[in-house]
Amino acid sequence: MSREKPSRLVVKCGSSLLMHPETGANDVYITALAGQIAHLLRDGIQVVLVASGAIAMGRCVLGGSGDDSTLARQVLAAVGQTPLMTTFAARFEKFGLNVAQALLSRGSLNQRDGYLNARNTLMELMECGILPIVNENDVVATEELQIGDNDSLAALVANLVDADLLVMLTDVDGYLAADDEGRATVVPSVQQITPEMIAAAGGAGSAAGTGGMRTKLEAAGLATSHGATVVVGPGRLERGLTRIVAGEAIGTTFVATGDRRESRKRWMLTDLALRGRVMVDAGAADALVRAGRSLLPAGIVEQAGEFGRGDLVAVVGPDGAVVAHGLTNYAATDLQRIAGQDSRQIAAILGFEYGAEIIHRNNLVLIGTSVTS
Ligand code: GLU
Repeated sequence: MSREKPSRLVVKCGSSLLMHPETGANDVYITALAGQIAHLLRDGIQVVLVASGAIAMGRCVLGGSGDDSTLARQVLAAVGQTPLMTTFAARFEKFGLNVAQALLSRGSLNQRDGYLNARNTLMELMECGILPIVNENDVVATEELQIGDNDSLAALVANLVDADLLVMLTDVDGYLAADDEGRATVVPSVQQITPEMIAAAGGAGSAAGTGGMRTKLEAAGLATSHGATVVVGPGRLERGLTRIVAGEAIGTTFVATGDRRESRKRWMLTDLALRGRVMVDAGAADALVRAGRSLLPAGIVEQAGEFGRGDLVAVVGPDGAVVAHGLTNYAATDLQRIAGQDSRQIAAILGFEYGAEIIHRNNLVLIGTSVTS
């Protein structure tokens, strides 16, 4: 099987692979993973790693505790996250890689500004060649708002950064189903995830982590519907990650059912979601349309609507025609004060800044063209 080389990849690695129940982090495994990710980055692929293990690490630090309450898990995660990241930083450094920690929660991703902050930061880290390592912010997650397992988190992250491939490495060979003789065999490719498949997958995960095949199928359903290809594959196979990314027939491939750019674009183009309008001069309109640039404050003439940071706004050219839709980095009240100004003045005028761009090109869809990023 051959697969197009992905441009942006999310790799999810579970606690059972990354951790050793007695000794803490599995150094050998993490080093091998770091080597493979370094190779992928050198090959021009942007990567986000979703890694759990904070709770398992916390357990190693504090000694085994049978208490499985949410609070006990939050305490363990709070204790374990730092040594976990320290291990990652040391192992990845061997391959010349800088890592960054990003702890996300459902609450923050559900908020428009939290979503935009997380997206902008992860994108910028990748642009800088730094590997973002994502985990759930277990400390702030209430029970109802918990993402709960890193399979779901990985699917949310894949959507957040518009990944074209999500690889979930696990301790089984892939998604298994009974063959004609009733033996469990890996299904090489799944076109459509059905409710029956999810029901049959059961719930239990491993001792170290929270996920199981059920959460993987649900996560795969979410990510494929947003246009990512998903592979659930064996995490212990030698060079397994690089081989999967190269398109070797390993594990189970869940075929993308949606179109990544299209679904994002469709949402961005919905007039119903618009919260305001930003009028720009001819130079700015031209820079967006012809040069594929971001929208800077200097080109903004005026604005209308009470939009907040992260809201969708229309960009209107001097002739009154809508040029683009995009997610604004600045609220209307702030924009009023910086419109027409040089980006370097933003911090001095507002007392803070969210970057030089009012709308970054990553968060912009041009109207009447197929260019999206
Ligand atoms: N966020 C949890 C941790 O780092 C794990 C969640 C999971 O196992 O999927 O320990």
